Amino acid sequence: MTKIALEHLYKYYENDLPVVKDFNLHVQDEEFIVLVGPSGCGKSTTLRMIAGLETISEGSFYIDNLLMNEAPPKDRDIAMVFQNYALYPHMNVFDNIAFGLKLRKFNKDTIKQRVHSASHLLGLDDYLNRKPRALSGGQRQRVALGRAIVRNPKVFLMDEPLSNLDAKLRVQMRSEIMQIHHQLKTTTIYVTHDQTEAMTMASRIVVMKDGIIQQIGTPSEVYLRPNNIFVGSFIGSPS
Ligand code: ADP
Ligand code: MG
Repeated sequence: MTKIALEHLYKYYENDLPVVKDFNLHVQDEEFIVLVGPSGCGKSTTLRMIAGLETISEGSFYIDNLLMNEAPPKDRDIAMVFQNYALYPHMNVFDNIAFGLKLRKFNKDTIKQRVHSASHLLGLDDYLNRKPRALSGGQRQRVALGRAIVRNPKVFLMDEPLSNLDAKLRVQMRSEIMQIHHQLKTTTIYVTHDQTEAMTMASRIVVMKDGIIQQIGTPSEVYLRPNNIFVGSFIGSPS
């Protein structure tokens, strides 16, 4: 079943050229889409339109067949994880994870229970009273993940969540993210510029260049049968 439908999406920031052009993608339930492409090609803008952090200039966006173009971000049932974690420095881990639930006026017991199950899943039980500055990079990224999963979102958007981590931790977090994805049965769109992440994590890869989708396919399809020279050299080149 189609979970997310993106139809003819465009983004114009000013009046000049669109930075996202005629973006078409139907994401199936529980798929893990990896969006790749060079810096500046429009990956973050695409995610931000889906999350409601940017307006959609043209086109339609549906979740479960409901038009979402105008829905306020907090009503979208989407959680987004950013590269820079975006944690609140003055709040401890518990309050950082709980933030989105408090905002949505969940009751105290539900908040407590959900924060504890998320922190347990992420191995953060012993860190709930710490402030972000007293955590390692990997732990901060886990808190950012915790803040997203605690809401049980249907849709997960991740914008280069591992790019601030060292190589070894990236490999470990990659498999943790896949584990969470399978366990919670989320539908995910994951942005990276790391070809290895794309090849190992994706159900399907979407390759973008200059705001335009170049190819959509399984990792082996885009690797073995690239649509054009750009896809071939981008996917084929080592990260
Ligand atoms: P990516 O995430 O693939 O690196 P982005 O979506 O961040 O690319 O950016 C796509 C293009 O849109 C870039 O040329 C960038 O400079 C431009 N852009 C991004 N955000 C804004 C903004 N708020 N105002 C104007 N231009 C922007
Ligand atoms: Mg980006």
